[in-house]
Amino acid sequence: MSHAKRRRVLDIIATDATFERVPHRGADVWMGKCLHCNAHLTVALDGDPISRATIEHIIPRSAGGTDALENLALACARCNQGKGSRHDAHFHRDARVRELVDRLLQKRRDRWRDPADPDSE
Ligand SMILES: [Zn+2]
Repeated sequence: MSHAKRRRVLDIIATDATFERVPHRGADVWMGKCLHCNAHLTVALDGDPISRATIEHIIPRSAGGTDALENLALACARCNQGKGSRHDAHFHRDARVRELVDRLLQKRRDRWRDPADPDSE
């Protein structure tokens, strides 16, 4: 994973209250939950996923979704792949997809926390 992507993963973790810093096999890691299925996601402190976490655009980029942190979340690879491009193609005309996206945006807001001061640890 590129440095920019790891940085983004850490930005998402900093604003997602499900993520906690916990000891794991002799080193501290970030552990939190997939936005969709709540499966545990494990990420190294440098932002490199240990379990297969992927960055998800809640409103797909193809539907005008941005890189704002409010629109980004971490998802397990299975959930992110399951959504796939079919979701993107139907975004504008499928009301159920819009409802799903609205629910996910709400869930992201419910999990939101303001980033901690990076110098406080
Ligand atoms: Zn999942």
